[in-house]
Amino acid sequence: MAGEPQADCLFCKIVAGEVPATIVRETDTTVAFRDINPQAPTHVLVIPKVHHPDAASLATAEPQIAADVLCEARKVAEEDKVDGTGFRIVFNTGTGAGQTVFHAHAHVLGGRGLNWPPG
Ligand code: C5P
Repeated sequence: MAGEPQADCLFCKIVAGEVPATIVRETDTTVAFRDINPQAPTHVLVIPKVHHPDAASLATAEPQIAADVLCEARKVAEEDKVDGTGFRIVFNTGTGAGQTVFHAHAHVLGGRGLNWPPG
């Protein structure tokens, strides 16, 4: 059922504490943790605790939780002090866009110059 934990989902396992992660923030609806393969000095993933395969599905099914993810991304940037120079929030959505983990997540990237357009 939509939103329910998935046994084979890595990020559901992080939410459940079954897979370790360096957690930087947690709320009733979200968890934020450092990416294991950081692409910038700040590279944090913000995920909803509920399972939806991507950000678009999350926004359709549970728009308030999608908003929670966005608000937490802003707080991560503030706490890592990258909000002053500029940071990027990325939702890779679908394999063609580079999504590899099919549990909705926001990448928060900052602490270096970020080029546009992205690759
Ligand atoms: O947008 P995409 O689906 O490619 O992002 C998944 C991200 O999850 C990657 O940046 C990867 O490094 C990260 N990851 C992680 N911890 C894991 C497995 C993947 O931070 N245990």
